[in-house]
Amino acid sequence: MDMNEKKLVTILIPAYNEHEAIPILYDRLVKLMDEQNKYNFEVLFVNDGSKDNTLELIKFLRAKDSRINYLNLSRNYGKEIAMAAGFDYVRGDAMIIIDADLQDPPELIPEMLKYWEEGYDDVYARRRTRKGESPLKKLTSWGFYRILQSMTKIEIQKDTGDFRLLDRRCVEAIKKFKESQRYTKGLYSWIGYNKKEILYDRDPRVAGKTKWNYKRLFSLSIDGITSFTTSPLHWATILGTLISFAGFIYMLAIILKTLIYGVDVSGYASMMVVILFLGGIQLVFLGLIRRISRTRLL
Ligand code: UDP
Ligand code: MG
Repeated sequence: MDMNEKKLVTILIPAYNEHEAIPILYDRLVKLMDEQNKYNFEVLFVNDGSKDNTLELIKFLRAKDSRINYLNLSRNYGKEIAMAAGFDYVRGDAMIIIDADLQDPPELIPEMLKYWEEGYDDVYARRRTRKGESPLKKLTSWGFYRILQSMTKIEIQKDTGDFRLLDRRCVEAIKKFKESQRYTKGLYSWIGYNKKEILYDRDPRVAGKTKWNYKRLFSLSIDGITSFTTSPLHWATILGTLISFAGFIYMLAIILKTLIYGVDVSGYASMMVVILFLGGIQLVFLGLIRRISRTRLL
C-alpha cells in the first residue's frame, strides 16, 4: 500500500510533570503503532508548563522519532486548556486523547480504531473499575456525574474520561468552542455524532503523582455544571421573584403601620435582616450568573 493512502491517526497527550511516565508510555505506544501498520501515526504531546524534564524528554524523543510532535504551553494551564490547544494542531483523520500516566491503556486503541472503521465518530472508553484511587474520589466522581445529569438535558456519559477516539469532524466541531472555563467532557456530548462505548479497567498511574486534588476537581465540577445547565438561573429567577414580592408586601405593611401608628424605631432590626438577606441572595446569584454568562446556554 502506498504510504499516502494510509489514514493518519493523531494521539494527543496532555502532560504536566510526567517525565517518569513518558519513557514507559513511549515504549507502549511504539509497540502499538508498529502493530497497527495500516495507519500512520502522529503523537502530539502538549507540555502543560511542566517543571520537571518533560519537555527535554519530549524533544529527545522527537529527535529520534519523527512521529512525535509537541506543543509547549507558556505556563501550566490545566488539562482542559492543554487539550484545547492540542485540538487546534491535530492533523489526523482521527485523534485519540490519552493520559500520559498510562491510566488509560493504549492497548485499547485497536478496538477504538475498529469501531471508527465501522463508522463511529466518537468511541469513548468507560471505566468498569478504577484501581489506585481512593474510595472518596470514586464516590465524589460517581455522585458528580449523576448530579450533573439530573440538571441538564444533554446526555452526560457516566464514568467516562477524556480517553476516546474522535473522528476529524468531531475535532472540527469541538474546535469551534473557545471558552476558557472548559468542561470538555460535556462538549463531547454537546456536539452529537455517532457514539460508541467500550468498557475498560482503569489502571493505577505507572509513575509520578496525580495532579488532581479536590480543589481542582471542585472547580471543574462547577465549570461542568454551569456550562451545561441553566437550572441555577431558573431557580434564581423564581426565588428572586418570590423574595422581592414578599419584600414588597412587607414594605407596604410597614408604610401603613408607620402612617397609622407613627415612627417605630424597633423596626430597625427587621429592616436590617431583610437588607442583609436580600444582599446575600443577590451576591450568590450574581456569582452564578457571571459564570453562566461566560458560556453557551441550553
Ligand atoms: N495534566 C495536564 N495539566 C495539568 C494536570 C494534568 O496536562 O495541569 C495531564 C497529566 O499529565 C495527565 C492527565 O492530564 O496526562 C491526567 O492527569 P492526572 O493523571 O494527574 O489526573 P487523574 O488521572 O488523577 O484524574
Ligand atoms: Mg491519571
